[in-house]
Amino acid sequence: MKNSAIVVVDELYDFIDGSLACQGADDCVKNSAALLEKAAVPVLFICDHHPANHSSFAEQGGPWPPHCVQGTRGGEIAEPLRPFVEDSLCFYKGTDPAKEQYSGFEGVNEAGQTLDEVLQLLDIKEVTVIGIATEYCVRNTAEDLLKAGYKVTVKEDCLAWVDAAGHREAIAAMKAEGIRFA
Ligand SMILES: [Zn+2]
Repeated sequence: MKNSAIVVVDELYDFIDGSLACQGADDCVKNSAALLEKAAVPVLFICDHHPANHSSFAEQGGPWPPHCVQGTRGGEIAEPLRPFVEDSLCFYKGTDPAKEQYSGFEGVNEAGQTLDEVLQLLDIKEVTVIGIATEYCVRNTAEDLLKAGYKVTVKEDCLAWVDAAGHREAIAAMKAEGIRFA
């Protein structure tokens, strides 16, 4: 579809089978690969990409175990999605040790461009958001896209979550804000 794109959030091994393995992650990856296979639109990947001393890690006083450390398997995009990866359309967040970043809007690609800048260059108006975790990076990314004026749809069978109740609450909140679900 013209003017459409898919944003894949954090479908990285630490969120799938690693230190922060999320519920539903296997189905999320399988359904995401099937979706990307059929979709003839640009696919943009958001990647949590932390230095080893990141402030969100428990040993620095943060809420999470170490995850998605740069150069480790935990930070790699799930194998079934790799055929759809273009380096210039990968956006890395959480690279500054001092900053927590849940939203893909805060990441940049290898050329230093933000997600918003690249979506504008591609003339994208409608974005489908999929990925991990519903309550954190998916929600924050979808909300920032909506605020920036994009029409946003979240594919419910392409999500995984930290906590089932939190997942349901986040979906209800996103629906109330005007994010569509499919
Ligand atoms: Zn992180």
